[in-house]
Amino acid sequence: MISIKDLSKVFSPNGKNSIQAVNGLSLDINKGEIFGVIGYSGAGKSTFIRLLNRLEDPTDGQVIIDGENITALRKNELRLARQEIGMIFQHFNLLWSRTVRDNIAFPLEIAGVPKQKRMERVDELIGLVGLTGREDAYPSELSGGQKQRVGIARALANNPKVLLCDEATSALDPETTNSILQLLVDINEKLGLTIILITHEMHVIRKICHRVAVMEAGMVVEQGDVLEVFLHP
Ligand code: ADP
Ligand code: ADP
Repeated sequence: MISIKDLSKVFSPNGKNSIQAVNGLSLDINKGEIFGVIGYSGAGKSTFIRLLNRLEDPTDGQVIIDGENITALRKNELRLARQEIGMIFQHFNLLWSRTVRDNIAFPLEIAGVPKQKRMERVDELIGLVGLTGREDAYPSELSGGQKQRVGIARALANNPKVLLCDEATSALDPETTNSILQLLVDINEKLGLTIILITHEMHVIRKICHRVAVMEAGMVVEQGDVLEVFLHP
């Protein structure tokens, strides 16, 4: 479903401080799986995941999602493509002056969904992520876990084909982490949504991922089923 071929990203390619963050990375991810990418800080995980929705432009290589060549899209085509690729972040990236409801409605507004449909969809999403009763709260009034639930609802608003998770539980305590991971599993099972997550934490991978790739110096050094990769001597 997602095919990544020879993907590379070099920052400041012409300067003497040039950095190859992603280095000829190839990976295939199946529809409906929860795929984890693990590696130490600086391994290139964040750059990698940002290349998948073109928050970064690649230096080389291809990302194909459901037959669509993401890397070939022009800037003005990206907005539509991004509706198909949801993303959640370590620090949530919510709009602080908007309520829960309005944060979740934001991508629907941008997509031009009419008000009545927008309200219905937001209510549905609020139920899905377990925020019923908190619709009118502002992000500053929410716990970390609740903020990430808003992030997840917002990411799912336009029914994406894939959800990208960038260290989505790294700012949360262990108990909250578990509840957010469980929500991701529920969403994966209920919607059949493909999920790609990057993390530096092994327990996150063990808890919810079907397959995993280990990243080092911008490359995949090992990949396979989670049990295979982690229990092998
Ligand atoms: P990880 O997410 O695994 O910690 P990153 O993708 O954030 O790794 O970083 C990989 C390498 O790329 C690091 O050396 C980092 O300093 C560098 N890097 C990341 N983003 C940028 C940027 N915008 N400009 C220059 N270098 C960057
Ligand atoms: P953490 O996830 O570490 O608890 P916060 O949730 O407080 O952090 O903030 C997440 C991000 O949002 C940070 O990058 C922070 O700079 C930004 N932020 C926090 N409060 C506000 C605000 N009132 N207005 C704009 N940005 C904010």
